[in-house]
Amino acid sequence: MNRLCEETQDRLSDAALDQRTPDPIDREHAEACDACAQHRNFLHTLRSALDDVSRVPALPMRRVQDRATRVLRAAQSPAPFGKRLLRVVGLALLPLPFVIAYAIGIAKGASQLLDSILPQSALIWLGMIYFSTLAIGIGLVYAALPFAVAQRRSIERNSESP
Ligand SMILES: [Zn+2]
Repeated sequence: MNRLCEETQDRLSDAALDQRTPDPIDREHAEACDACAQHRNFLHTLRSALDDVSRVPALPMRRVQDRATRVLRAAQSPAPFGKRLLRVVGLALLPLPFVIAYAIGIAKGASQLLDSILPQSALIWLGMIYFSTLAIGIGLVYAALPFAVAQRRSIERNSESP
C-alpha cells in the first residue's frame, strides 16, 4: 500500500469516526482505488454494525437489581411449609411399620402369657386398651408435626431478619 492510500484511509477512518462525509478528494480517490474503496466499505459496515448494537435496548439497572434481589431472597428463604411438612411426615412414617410390628409382637406374647389366667373377654378388652392408647399416642405425635415445622420456620425467619 502506497503512502497516498495510507493517508487517504486514515482520513476516511477519521471521517467515519466523526460521523461526517469524507473530503471530496478522498472520495474521488476511493472511487478510483480498489484498496481504499474496500476500506471505505469496511468503515460503512462497521458503522452500521455499531448502530445496530446501540439500538439493542439496555436492560435498566433497576430491573437487573430487582431480579438479582429476588433470586437471592428465594435462595435464602426457608423451604415452603407444605414441602417441608411432607418431608418431615415422610421421615416420621419410616419407623411406623416397625412400631406396629413390635406392638403386635408384645400383644401376642402378652395374650399367650395371660391366656391361662384371664378369660377371653378380658384379654380382648386389654388388647383394645393397649392398641387404642398406642394409636392415640402415635396420632398425637403425627398431629404435632405441622406445629413443630411451623415453629421451626418462624425461628428461622426471626433469625433471618435482625
Ligand atoms: Zn488508495
